[in-house]
Amino acid sequence: MSNVTVCARFRPLSSKEKRDHGDVICIRSIDAENFVFKDEKDEDFTFCFDRVFYPGSEQVDVYEFLAQPIVRDAVNAINGTIITYGQTGAGKTYSIEGPSILGCDEQKKEGLLPRVVGELFECLKSADEMIKYTVKLSMVEIYMEKVRDLFDLSKDNLHIKEGKVQGIFLSGVTEISILDPEEALRSLSSGIANRAVGETLMNMASSRSHCVYIFTVRQESTKDRRMKTGKLILVDLAGSEKVEKTGAEGRVLEEAKTINKSLSALGNVINALTGSTPGKVNHIPYRDSKLTRILQDALVSPPLLCPHQITIIFYQKPTVFSSYRVETHELHYF
Ligand code: ADP
Ligand code: MG
Repeated sequence: MSNVTVCARFRPLSSKEKRDHGDVICIRSIDAENFVFKDEKDEDFTFCFDRVFYPGSEQVDVYEFLAQPIVRDAVNAINGTIITYGQTGAGKTYSIEGPSILGCDEQKKEGLLPRVVGELFECLKSADEMIKYTVKLSMVEIYMEKVRDLFDLSKDNLHIKEGKVQGIFLSGVTEISILDPEEALRSLSSGIANRAVGETLMNMASSRSHCVYIFTVRQESTKDRRMKTGKLILVDLAGSEKVEKTGAEGRVLEEAKTINKSLSALGNVINALTGSTPGKVNHIPYRDSKLTRILQDALVSPPLLCPHQITIIFYQKPTVFSSYRVETHELHYF
């Protein structure tokens, strides 16, 4: 069984989209796993995912299907990763952060992060009393192949290292110890605010960098001092839009090339992993980008039987008007 789950999510049409293009969306629902994509020539293409979240889906549906099991695993020292992939404006950040990290006007709009921290501390409450748990949080951003610490902007080029015991780690990254959900949300909110500050300084937009949230749950047995660690990583990827479409030049072109390179590196790693035959370990090109290198522990080959869950949520704008060729190509990608 694969430990890679791929879901698709479609946000509702915005009022502007409805105004400009009418109340038409580019897909037709078949069931919870399949949908039909209609192209401009009215041809149908059917796509199959582990789960499709249609425009009417709620944040809690996404959370319960793909995040809740991973949070529970992290408490049991099993790593898990959630990656959001798709064009700018397709709904990635809305799913991860929700409309606002520190309390939404409606609780049902809360994104994955507040739900994850809530669940994490709930799990710890009922965990084995003989185990001492500590939860740490790091937040980094990858922009133009540089890793920046979102809890300390002076650390703007962190190095990725590999240790025998701890595996892949970011040397010198700030790790905030969090004791309760409120503190976690305050830290997340300060990281998100720092992202905006850094962006202004560097004259860029968040859609052009990858944002990586890393929760580390360490457990130490009070009986024999044995230690175990579970990592939960959420990744809000840079927009997957193609450069050709925007006619970009100069710095914007360089940014787009770097983003495309790291997104295709991610695709290549996932293809190499899912295509490998049991018992045979393919070459997995983790070192082709900072993103895949940071996620190396997360993107382990299933034949190695590493108990790790990787979930990719594919976001697609609900309008018919973006070039379907690009979109369908991307849908095939994973
Ligand atoms: P991305 O991060 O992929 O660039 P955003 O998450 O910022 O996209 O979403 C773009 C816009 O669509 C935002 O205004 C957001 O509030 C809205 N949006 C995204 N997903 C949903 C959803 N499921 N329900 C309602 N509005 C959404
Ligand atoms: Mg975003």
